[in-house]
Amino acid sequence: MKYLGLEDKVVLVTGGNRGIGAAIVSLLEELGTQVAYTYRSDPNIQSGALAIPADVTDSAAMAAVAATVEEKLGPIYGVVANAGITRDNFFPKLTIDDWDAVIETNLKGMYNTLIPVIPKMYERREGSVVCVSSISGERGNIGQTNYAASKAGAIGLTKSLALEGARYGVRANAVAPGFIETEMTRAIPDKVKEKITAEIPFRRFGKPEEVAWAVAFLLSPIASSYVTGTVLQVNGAHNT
Ligand code: NDP
Repeated sequence: MKYLGLEDKVVLVTGGNRGIGAAIVSLLEELGTQVAYTYRSDPNIQSGALAIPADVTDSAAMAAVAATVEEKLGPIYGVVANAGITRDNFFPKLTIDDWDAVIETNLKGMYNTLIPVIPKMYERREGSVVCVSSISGERGNIGQTNYAASKAGAIGLTKSLALEGARYGVRANAVAPGFIETEMTRAIPDKVKEKITAEIPFRRFGKPEEVAWAVAFLLSPIASSYVTGTVLQVNGAHNT
């Protein structure tokens, strides 16, 4: 029997209480990983993982999260920077608050999540980072200038981290999900959903579990040991 090598590794997932993050937490638990996750609103009571309330826009809170995880579970091997929001509007109507909220959460949130952890990974000479980007960050999307900018930024961050981390044996990759069935896409009107689905060669939205498996692959020190600086698309060929 072969395993992904994530058994007993410690992995921190931001925004792990629902949607894609909850699917990642749940799969990692099944793979034997020691999982910690952050939440902002309600914890996911179904999970047995270590749940820590923290807002990714709060740098002090995120430093405290990293310290708590290391104290309670041990050295952090993997980080999944997943927490994210949308505040969609056509650019002329996009307020500065909508711009700031999305950049603060999706991009600065990644910095706040990673900065307390990366130096220790370099010292230990092992680690794997997965940043959750989006198809919008790869090709843009109407009504999402702020979101697309944040998700394109996530790809730039990931690729630069991969280059810097290589000499320390620390990998960094991104996943770029297409349209996935979560709260985030539930608000899309049915008519628009039908139009989007018709554009997807798979003719359906993805499921959170399908993103979770891509993340598990990228975290794995066995399955993806030579994979770094890449963007793994999980989109039913939507961007092909
Ligand atoms: P959901 O809206 O279902 O979940 C978002 C998660 O992010 C929640 O756990 C939420 O916590 C957390 N979060 C949001 N803001 C903050 C914050 N300031 N601090 C801490 N946690 C926060 O979204 P998805 O599961 O769909 O999205 C997960 C990631 O995947 C996001 O980065 C999103 O951009 C990306 N993505 C999603 C796609 C989709 O189609 N669904 C497509 C491509 C990318 P809380 O519940 O406490 O608010």
